[in-house]
Amino acid sequence: MGLEPDRLFHQIRRNVGRAIGDFKLIEEGDRILVGVSGGKDSYTLLHILDHLRRKAPVKYELVAANVDSGFPGFRKQVIEDHLLEHGFEYRMESTNCYEIIETKRRPGSSYCSFCARLRRGVLYSLADELGCNKIALGHHLDDFIETLLLNQFYVGTLKAMSPKLAADNGRHTVIRPLVYVEEGDIIRFSRQHQMPVICCACPVCGEVDQKRQRMKQLIRELSQENRHIKRSMLGALGNVHPRHLLDKELVDFNRIGNE
Ligand code: SF4
Repeated sequence: MGLEPDRLFHQIRRNVGRAIGDFKLIEEGDRILVGVSGGKDSYTLLHILDHLRRKAPVKYELVAANVDSGFPGFRKQVIEDHLLEHGFEYRMESTNCYEIIETKRRPGSSYCSFCARLRRGVLYSLADELGCNKIALGHHLDDFIETLLLNQFYVGTLKAMSPKLAADNGRHTVIRPLVYVEEGDIIRFSRQHQMPVICCACPVCGEVDQKRQRMKQLIRELSQENRHIKRSMLGALGNVHPRHLLDKELVDFNRIGNE
């Protein structure tokens, strides 16, 4: 049972369709594992991809997958009820990620990055088991540009995320079809359609990532002066001029002036 499309639905669907076309995210015969965490982004992704699937000339299949890390109090039944209600093919996967994080994480290292790595590994295994060649994740436009700034300001690298990335194992492709969708639209969409958003119940759930919040605030402030700031930043990621950067791997500076 699909959602009733309204204006916002069509707008998000258009942006997802444009991303699919621009980056060739979905092809005939794809079987796509959609990671569904119980958050607003992944619910939105799943419903929009499902709507497109019903209309698109390209035939593809979706399998929703939730990875339960074993955090006490995680209300996975809420997710399963939603997937059942809307008739999705799905898999609920219980894991001991929580136990592994608690025993193996190095003191002082990031809880989230270890957790995300483990969960990603589970998704890869599930994709193999369920015959999926692609894995769709719910990162949106704001994630892309915030990551760009975070890497630039705190890591010293010019890097964001890729909308389409071959996994290291060579068997799967990770796709991010919400690359052109702003977080604000996803928030409105998930409220309008009463998505059953739940907390991941992990020990750091709800903790504010100060650096990311600072990037959000900076982008908000700049957007008040120029409402096209987000689009411009995203556009910059697709309009790279290596000759005007300092990367010695990309430009052979020895040759310049000696030709
Ligand atoms: S917020 Fe919690 S569930 Fe999400 S990646 Fe971080 S530790 Fe894992």
